[in-house]
Amino acid sequence: MTSPAPTRTYGLPMAFDALGDRWSILTLRAVYDGHHTFTELRDSVGITDGVLAARLARLTGSGMLDRLQYHARPPRWQYHRSDIAVELWQAGIALWLWDQAWDSPSLDTQIRHVACGNIAAPAFGCASCGTLGVTTHDVQATVADGLPDELNLSSATRTVRLAALPYVDAVTLLGDHWSTAMLAVTLFGARSFSEYRAVLQRISTATLSERLRLFVVSGLLETAPGNGGRRKVYRMTQKSRDFFPVFAAMNEWAGRFADDTGLRFEHVHCGSELIPRFWCDHCHRVMDGPNTTFETIAPTVADPAQSRPNA
Ligand SMILES: [Zn+2]
Ligand SMILES: [Zn+2]
Repeated sequence: MTSPAPTRTYGLPMAFDALGDRWSILTLRAVYDGHHTFTELRDSVGITDGVLAARLARLTGSGMLDRLQYHARPPRWQYHRSDIAVELWQAGIALWLWDQAWDSPSLDTQIRHVACGNIAAPAFGCASCGTLGVTTHDVQATVADGLPDELNLSSATRTVRLAALPYVDAVTLLGDHWSTAMLAVTLFGARSFSEYRAVLQRISTATLSERLRLFVVSGLLETAPGNGGRRKVYRMTQKSRDFFPVFAAMNEWAGRFADDTGLRFEHVHCGSELIPRFWCDHCHRVMDGPNTTFETIAPTVADPAQSRPNA
């Protein structure tokens, strides 16, 4: 049976497009970290003027950033996260935790729950029932007709050449169209080259092979021999399972962009839709944007250049 042409648009592909490419995500992250002027953002992201100007225009245009003029002549602007971007906070916490666990630990940042004043170790759970420690084993994913077609809608700015990369980090995953689509398809249960290909019909075999190789090298998938001499199968790893909170938070946020995200996660334990949230391990309240901040940890080792008395 062939799937019908999509009669509606789903929020998940739109949300990923609003997030933009790798440079857009790094720019957004820098704004979250408290950098607001063009110069601050350029220096903190390590980006050229032209690339930054294009990303700021795109993020402002898609409503992710608000632009405020702070100087009339010459005109100077500050960039602040919009209400839409503030609501992305759960995904921001999820991404930070995943980076801490698996990628390049951001040892110089920590999360403070301003509501109670403590440095927190956020715990993921379902706000429908209050259960903490929810994993992919506890949820049932339902995919709407038409979403796989929408995942095939390629956005040129979000597709990057990954061939030269030794591995993929979280920002690269979220900033690359085919990587996010493949992560989604992995969560839907694809386990073989042909199963990925069946859903992502517009991906070339070369691109799919390259992404699968990178996912394996990066520890997001592992391979096993297929039954009866069939082609190898791909299995999720703990690392890709741990990406689930990022996906669940992104999916909830995607609801802002359309009536239906196209993807529903049911929490099997309570039988309700999983409402992804993070709880503070100190005061046991839900952490969200206005009451949570990322802080830079002051270096504990003295910088020799700074401590030299007569430099
Ligand atoms: Zn629940
Ligand atoms: Zn707290």
